[in-house]
Amino acid sequence: MVKVAFFDTKNYDREAFERLNSKEVAFKFFETKLSEDTVELAKGYDGVCVFVNDNVNQNVIDKLYEYGICFIVLRCAGYNNVDVTAAFGKIHVFRVPAYSPYAVAEHAMALLLTSIRRIHKAYIRSRDFNFSLNGLTGFDLHGKTVGVIGAGKIGTVFMNICKGFGMNVLAYDRFPREMDGVRFTDLDELFKESDIISLHCPLTEETKHIIGFDTLPKLKKGVMIINTSRGGLIDAEALLQGIKDRKIGGACLDVYEEEADIFFNDNSGHILGDDVLARLISMPNVIVTSHQAFLTQEALDNIAGTTLQNILDFTENKDNDNEICYRCANIGKCKSSRKSKCF
Ligand code: NAD
Repeated sequence: MVKVAFFDTKNYDREAFERLNSKEVAFKFFETKLSEDTVELAKGYDGVCVFVNDNVNQNVIDKLYEYGICFIVLRCAGYNNVDVTAAFGKIHVFRVPAYSPYAVAEHAMALLLTSIRRIHKAYIRSRDFNFSLNGLTGFDLHGKTVGVIGAGKIGTVFMNICKGFGMNVLAYDRFPREMDGVRFTDLDELFKESDIISLHCPLTEETKHIIGFDTLPKLKKGVMIINTSRGGLIDAEALLQGIKDRKIGGACLDVYEEEADIFFNDNSGHILGDDVLARLISMPNVIVTSHQAFLTQEALDNIAGTTLQNILDFTENKDNDNEICYRCANIGKCKSSRKSKCF
């Protein structure tokens, strides 16, 4: 039986993994996140299973290696929280590259519609029997220009949804391509032309703060910014400044750069220590959800199924394209040439 220490467990994770009823893999569910302070819990296990806010830095990797951990399985697509360079040659790292691009893209559109049609405000009003429409005026999406940064799996689903609304679609991606009804542009043109910008690229050195103080002057006045990708794509202080200056017309945030100790938890009885987040949440034109975009039944079942398969493929020494190594990430050739594990 393969033993896996499962970090940052939520009830919905546990239920999805227990539904698999695996005879080959035993999961031990820990509520705490994996970090330098908690890594000792991994002693005696064969592998660890982590999520977006577990901090798998070099020190954690070294400890895991010392404890004989052979694999790290991520329950997500993004892996910016794992030092894959430090892991290379020591611990194999796997991810779930896709579980439901629809879940995230549909959430991005749900946030946008909620915000521009003031549904969040109308919901609260009508519960209070306040049926006034004052202050609820929105705008049509039809005919507006949306700029999508990162035209991968999620970005593509989002662009198709936008096309269904009759929007003009611009895209910026490291690898531009032909796509019906979509015009690939450079970043400056996308900033200049877009009424709405939605971020769907990964967080890398290159994309960190892709929306920042430098970007503000390039944006169209009143632009709506949607971020369902990673918090670090936006410099939150710049976003706040843009909103205060009325340059940015609204923001829909499912992710936040400093979300790790805040999101996914009930902090309702506490004083929020993050002034920037508190100020953003206080704005009438900002909607924040707590890294919820992935959270559909379909996505949870796919995450559990792929994670289990990643573990089984590793233990049975089978080919698996979900393994991440810094060579695959940086060069992109390794996967096509290798026959089984990355090292
Ligand atoms: P993907 O790999 O299919 O697409 C990413 C796209 O970004 C690719 O087309 C890639 O070429 C492009 N890209 C990479 N670097 C770029 C750069 N510097 N500039 C412009 N484009 C660049 O990934 P995906 O499945 O579409 O996921 C996108 C992101 O969504 C993930 O990286 C993850 O951070 C995030 N995500 C968030 C949630 C959530 O619950 N909020 C869930 C899943 C994924």
